[in-house]
Amino acid sequence: AQETINLLVLNKDEKYVSFQNFCDERHQVLGNAQRLTQVLINLLDNARDASEEGGVISIITRELSGFIEILIEDEGEGIPDEIKEQIFEPFFTTKEPGVGTGLGLSLVYSIIEDHHGKVSVKSPLDLSTQRGTCFSIILPKYVDYT
Ligand code: ADP
Ligand code: MG
Repeated sequence: AQETINLLVLNKDEKYVSFQNFCDERHQVLGNAQRLTQVLINLLDNARDASEEGGVISIITRELSGFIEILIEDEGEGIPDEIKEQIFEPFFTTKEPGVGTGLGLSLVYSIIEDHHGKVSVKSPLDLSTQRGTCFSIILPKYVDYT
């Protein structure tokens, strides 16, 4: 995750957003590292687009029984209920033409499905401000038996 964060910080420097990494290195998941990195890039990219100058994006991992949950939280304006059902559809975007392709979350969905995982979204995250979004990814835990 730290490598993905570094990549994003380096790639887009027009807006200052800070990242908080609460990942536990012991929380390893089963799957294709390259495709799962793409999932994180897509979610962090969206979180970054949603963030205002000075916004904070947090990445948290936690252990469930036999699974690892990865949470990506931002302090952006949130996702209206009316479009929550559509965001995972290919080509659905609320961004300007040329900015958003609408393919990021549909790819996240199919990659996570291929990994027998689950993806869900909670927004608003902060009930007092009615802002913020949290994407949750649940994947089978990798256990090293050696
Ligand atoms: P794109 O980023 O190209 O628009 P995505 O499939 O990645 O396509 O996302 C689809 C839509 O979901 C976005 O256009 C936006 O409206 C909404 N969305 C996704 N992530 C967030 C987020 N963290 N905060 C607010 N809206 C979001
Ligand atoms: Mg996107």
